[in-house]
Amino acid sequence: MERVKKIIAALNKLYPDPKPALKFETPFESLVATILSAQCTDARVNIVTRQLFRVANTPEGILKLGEKRLEIFVRSTGFFRAKTKSLIGAAKMIIEKFGGRVPENLEDLQSLPGVGRKTASVVLAQAFGIPAFPVDRHVFRVANRLELAFVEGAKGGAKNGIKRAKTPEKTDFALRKNIPEKFWIPLHLQLVYHGRLICRPKPKCHECALLKWCPEGQKRIKE
Ligand code: SF4
Repeated sequence: MERVKKIIAALNKLYPDPKPALKFETPFESLVATILSAQCTDARVNIVTRQLFRVANTPEGILKLGEKRLEIFVRSTGFFRAKTKSLIGAAKMIIEKFGGRVPENLEDLQSLPGVGRKTASVVLAQAFGIPAFPVDRHVFRVANRLELAFVEGAKGGAKNGIKRAKTPEKTDFALRKNIPEKFWIPLHLQLVYHGRLICRPKPKCHECALLKWCPEGQKRIKE
């Protein structure tokens, strides 16, 4: 689709070679940082993991650290008791079921405690370089405003045969269907960047380089 190609080209110009905001060196570090990032800023997670990874950056290390000490490390990321339980549960399962290695597919990753589809997709895409389309709140908002997560030929509530995906999961499926796989990894990061800088909850459409291809932006500037 021509419009989609133009949006991708414009995002490539705006955000060339986008990098994840969370810092990690290994797939296990990526998993830990992503679990900690729920309801927390990336900057805060990076401060916490910089200290944590010095003492424990493997499943064995996390188990050795133990629940009480781990809680102290991750306390400032919020929901620290639940996150600590997830980290310990995930570390145990990685050792017992996956031979000490973080699994490299969505299904196995999602079987780990505290790991949903978004976290599993982040680890696949960012740590393993395996195409996946993590949908966080920025990707959900921006992709739907740009009608990248459209369901073609939709009936009932659809305008011009185009319907927006209603949930992050449906957005993930629609994006993977509509966008060629080679773009998934950079595009999910570019949508996050754009959602943080321009297409915020209150969007800056007048400053947006994507305005001419954006149905939502076109509607908003006429209001
Ligand atoms: Fe978001 Fe507005 Fe840009 Fe569309 S034109 S992507 S709604 S900021």
